[in-house]
Amino acid sequence: MRPSCIEVDLSILAHNLNLIREHTDNRPVMAVVKSNAYGHGLIKVAQLYEKLGVNSLGVALLEEGILLRESGISLPIIVFGGVLTKQILEYLEWNLEFFVSSPEVLCETEKLCKSLGQLATVHLKIDSGMGRIGTSLENSESFITEALDAEHINVKGICSHFACADDPEDPMTQEQIDRFFQAVSVFDRLGASTPMRHIANSGGVLYFPQSHLDIIRPGIILYGVYPDSSCPRVIDVKPALRLKSQVSFHKSVPPGFSISYGATWTSESSAEISTIPLGYGDGYSRHLSNRGEVLINGKRRPIVGRVCMDQFMVNCETETQKAGNEVILVGEQQGQSITVEEISKWADTIPYEILTNLNERIPRIYIN
Ligand SMILES: *Cc1c(COP(=O)(O)O)cnc(C)c1O
Repeated sequence: MRPSCIEVDLSILAHNLNLIREHTDNRPVMAVVKSNAYGHGLIKVAQLYEKLGVNSLGVALLEEGILLRESGISLPIIVFGGVLTKQILEYLEWNLEFFVSSPEVLCETEKLCKSLGQLATVHLKIDSGMGRIGTSLENSESFITEALDAEHINVKGICSHFACADDPEDPMTQEQIDRFFQAVSVFDRLGASTPMRHIANSGGVLYFPQSHLDIIRPGIILYGVYPDSSCPRVIDVKPALRLKSQVSFHKSVPPGFSISYGATWTSESSAEISTIPLGYGDGYSRHLSNRGEVLINGKRRPIVGRVCMDQFMVNCETETQKAGNEVILVGEQQGQSITVEEISKWADTIPYEILTNLNERIPRIYIN
């Protein structure tokens, strides 16, 4: 097996879930496991959450929902992404709930379910300000009325999604909550009982208790990573993922020696250079070229030259290394640590992208 792997600590995932439950007065949890559980491995993580008693699982795609069902998950599964009408049958066949964002999909779902004599379970999506999918506040009354009138549609939830909740100071989030509540009030006005209301992503969970409502939808914070490197830390979640490798090759170089494609780095003095067998082909960003750092022997070592598809180099200054020495790209080593938040800053992106880019070429190992 290759010397690189992702190690996921299941006891840390459980610890994080507990902290989130405490922080939200034990609110029901829809654990978001889209994009391969943020790189942690869809099936293993979903099985853990099922064991830990979460109330449902959230994914982005029909395919992700099917993978969960094929692996034997029996929890309710909610698919967030936009539904194509030609896919509706598969949602029914695999017993998947889905977000409905438009009267058209509602109507198509009702037609199909009527012809099959089946019931679809849906969550009505309101666009309260994200501007992605969902019915506008203006059209929400007729949308909800149509949904309630449809005999083959079980309206289990009403929901929306935040655009700015990772910033506790941003007034946009309260405005979105207010607009969402206006849409929710339609049920009362129609004399219908209000279904499950949900809007809180990680930012909402962390910073906006008034958004927790009937069920929370945390994603990245479950994995112990904050939405952004600038986010204030209000609960002490821990990163569950470590990305490890080993030195594959080591050399001493003289002054004036250049490293990697484009020869973008040249040694000023003699240096000890180690090669790490992992690269952008694994999802380790090329933006980390000449910017990122790794840990070897408890010391931070800077990446020198461009990150290649399968390898990159680090400068160990005067410390020689042997092939096989442990390298930590994400996580702790001898009391030092490199976080996903920090890497996202180096790569000019957000922690989400760093995690979800780590692809299936890297084997996952589960501990504890
Ligand atoms: C991804 C997603 C979430 C989780 O977002 P995080 O910021 O990772 O907590 C919640 N709800 C919806 C609709 C999503 O698409």
